[in-house]
Amino acid sequence: MTMSEHDKIRELLALAAAGALTSAEEKQVAEHVRSCIACSNELDAWRPIASELRRLPTPQPSSWLVQATLARAEAKFTEQAEHDWNGRLMIVVVAFAWLLTIASWPVFQLVSGRFESLLEPQFSHTQLSHTLLSFAAFTALGWLAGGVAAVMLAVRQRGERRLA
Ligand SMILES: [Zn+2]
Repeated sequence: MTMSEHDKIRELLALAAAGALTSAEEKQVAEHVRSCIACSNELDAWRPIASELRRLPTPQPSSWLVQATLARAEAKFTEQAEHDWNGRLMIVVVAFAWLLTIASWPVFQLVSGRFESLLEPQFSHTQLSHTLLSFAAFTALGWLAGGVAAVMLAVRQRGERRLA
């Protein structure tokens, strides 16, 4: 055992207690400690301190905090993105329902108008109010279809998230 080896090992004792050495260094320390009372005692003194340090959040405060913050931020971001996505989806569904209503109204009118003109060939005030009423009903139906589609999508999305 040389003096330099003893000094070298002494410098590693704190790290050895903390379990921060490479396996080669660890082996070196273990071998030296077996034959050196001073280092053995010092290593024993370091052990509770090291375990105490490990128990405290201070050795890795940044990584702990960063991880927790990142996880929270990620969850928040996902939530926000989902919220935004749902909002956009609602707009799209409503717009689609409207578009569908407006686009299909002439077709509906043509079909029903042709059908009605067979029954009532003469245009009347009753027919006009009937037409307006049909349009209102048709629009309501379009809205309802859009609402149902939105709810179905939301439910399906929640189901998928539960499975994930
Ligand atoms: Zn020693």
